[in-house]
Amino acid sequence: MRRPLVAGNWKMNGSRSMNQALMQDVVAQVGHLDSVEVAVCPPFVYLEQVAGLVGPGIALGAQDLSDQDEGAHTGEVSGAMLKDLGCQYVIVGHSERRTLYGEDDAFTARKFAAARRHGLKPILCVGELLDERERDVTEAVVARQLDAVLELEGIGAFRDAVVAYEPVWAIGTGRTATPDQAQAVHAFVRGRLAEHDAAVAAGVQILYGGSVKADNAAELFNQADIDGGLIGGASLKAADFLAICKAA
Ligand code: PEP
Repeated sequence: MRRPLVAGNWKMNGSRSMNQALMQDVVAQVGHLDSVEVAVCPPFVYLEQVAGLVGPGIALGAQDLSDQDEGAHTGEVSGAMLKDLGCQYVIVGHSERRTLYGEDDAFTARKFAAARRHGLKPILCVGELLDERERDVTEAVVARQLDAVLELEGIGAFRDAVVAYEPVWAIGTGRTATPDQAQAVHAFVRGRLAEHDAAVAAGVQILYGGSVKADNAAELFNQADIDGGLIGGASLKAADFLAICKAA
């Protein structure tokens, strides 16, 4: 039985005072939910502050990491540093990294590998652009994104990883995939992994992300292959994030 996971991706938002207030409310209520794993992913600069605020029952994650381990890589943050600050998770291949910063499948796969080298659980984001959905190539795109990681790391790596299906057209747009649309891609992802190892595929948590809100979370999370969510905007409001965690 897969335990649901709800991870909040704060993106480039937050301040010391905002983080303090948000975490106070989140810890007070989410810390008591045994049936769901909860993680928060603040910007790098606030990881240490938030590590001191999470308390038991809430995991810390980062939004990105370097594919390199150390040395002359100005501006980069290594997996070892994230581990040192108490991170358990790291988001890899978010569509904003792929589309705004030109990070391709091979680079994303190297980041996935770097996360694993340092004992971090990667949350691998996959998903198609609107144009790709309209051209009916969603499965081909998601397969290509998964295969880049499978080729580099093998199926065994997914024993300690999470996949997040995030249709790019649904991220931050208020436009959500219908539960059926999301379930279809989640089943495809699980099936693709099952071609390599059925047991690993059955155990991997596959999150949905893309305009998940308090009022649509339950319907999405009720789908057979949706094991929780990666939540952007709604993770910045304690009441919304709590409602989404409860829906999982
Ligand atoms: C995200 O950034 O991963 C995301 C899903 O954002 P939003 O929930 O705001 O669409």
